[in-house]
This record gives sequence, C-alpha cells and structure tokens, in this order.
Amino acid sequence: MAEPALLRSRLLNTIGIRAIFSERSGGISLAPFNSLNLGHDIGDKSKNVETNIAKLMKMTGFSGRPHQAMQMHGVEHLICSGIGSPHSRQADILISNEPGTPIAVRTADCLPILMADPVNRIVAAVHAGWRGSAAGVVIRAVEQMLKMGAREEHIHASLGPSISPCCFEVDNNTARILKESVAGAEKAIVYSPEPHPDLTAINLLQLKEAGVAEDHIESLGICTCCHPGRFYSYRRDHGTTGRHLAVVALPEAL
Ligand SMILES: [Zn+2]
Repeated sequence: MAEPALLRSRLLNTIGIRAIFSERSGGISLAPFNSLNLGHDIGDKSKNVETNIAKLMKMTGFSGRPHQAMQMHGVEHLICSGIGSPHSRQADILISNEPGTPIAVRTADCLPILMADPVNRIVAAVHAGWRGSAAGVVIRAVEQMLKMGAREEHIHASLGPSISPCCFEVDNNTARILKESVAGAEKAIVYSPEPHPDLTAINLLQLKEAGVAEDHIESLGICTCCHPGRFYSYRRDHGTTGRHLAVVALPEAL
C-alpha cells in the first residue's frame, strides 16, 4: 500500500525540528474522503481515520498520536503535554515545550502554521483561516510562545499549503476585516474584480509585526484548491471533503 504523501518543512527540519504537512494520498479512506483523511466527525469511518493517523505518525517518526483541539477559528491556545489525544477544549493554537510531544492542527483550505524556537525549546501549531487571520491568531501564538520563554529572534515559522488568491474569493466585508488585521494587508488582497485575499501573505506580515525575522519564515505557497489530486479543499469540494494534519514536535530528550 502506498505511503502517506506529505510535505516536510525544510526550514524547521534544518533547525532540528520535525514538522510535516500531510497530503491526501496514501491512506485507506474511501471517496469523498480518499484517502488520507485525518479528521473525525465529518462523515468518514472513525477506524479509517485512526488507521490513517497511525500510518502518518509511523512514517514520519513522531511518537504516539498528536494532540488536537476543537478548532473554532479563534485565538485560544492549549498547552499540551503527555500522551497525544483529541481534546474537547476549543483552541486554534497548540503549544508544547515537552520533548517528543507532537501537536497538530487540521485543515482543508485554512492555513496551517508550524513554529519553533529551537533554543528555548517551544513549538506551536496554528490554524489560521480567514477568521483566525483577521483576529491575528499567529500574533497571539507568538505572544504565548514568548510567555513560555521563547525569544522572537529564535522563532522560526513554516506556512503550509492553503487556498490561495487564485481560488479564494470573498465579499467586501471580509476583505475589509482582513485589511484591518495588520499594516500592509491591503497589498495582500487582489481585486479581479471581487476581492481575493492571500492568507499566507497576511500571516507573513503578522509574523513580522510580532517580531519574527523574515529569513526565519518559510511559505510553501501551494494552493489546496488548485490541486485536487494532492489536497482536500473545503471550498472546491463544497464542504464534503477530508482533513489534512500539520504536525510539529520537539525532538525526544537524549
Ligand atoms: Zn488556486
């Protein structure tokens, strides 16, 4: 059987942090969740989702299952330790300073952001859709990392696959809210003639505003909606589709 397809964060890997973004192939789920669906409670069989998660974690070398929270497009955070599990807590930011503890966010068009301070040993996984981006979720995540002892100059961030301006049309009200989320955001919205925001560019601006150096930020820059063979897309598939996982962990203690 095919191995789970995934993208590795080159930037985070270079600083010794394991960080991956799953693609859709290499799992056992059937259409419309084919095949590496990693999201529960969306119509797929629970046991298939568990098998897919186990396959992905085994292949990528993470220990155990990843911590996951109830995602609400907000700015709440959850500090994770111990054995990974699904939490009933609502959070769009997961943080850990414990070695070998994988944390993850689920996406199907929304932007997943994985971050690490390898010096002070803190990692974060952030779910940034348009609502989260409008609320500055990645800025809140950096603030929380700093509270736990991270330093801006050591934070590295990898922005994964998400729906891109080519496929992401929004109404004027949404565009206005996003424009107000950070200085310079108006340049990250293309009008053709309806507004098409670039969530990656907006989050990059927010990371810089939060003090993260530009050369510590990586954007994978792949549109989930444009590549049906590789990615689920909530918008393209009219809401009936699978979920990807973006997973990060500190290395195990020696
Ligand atoms: Zn596209």
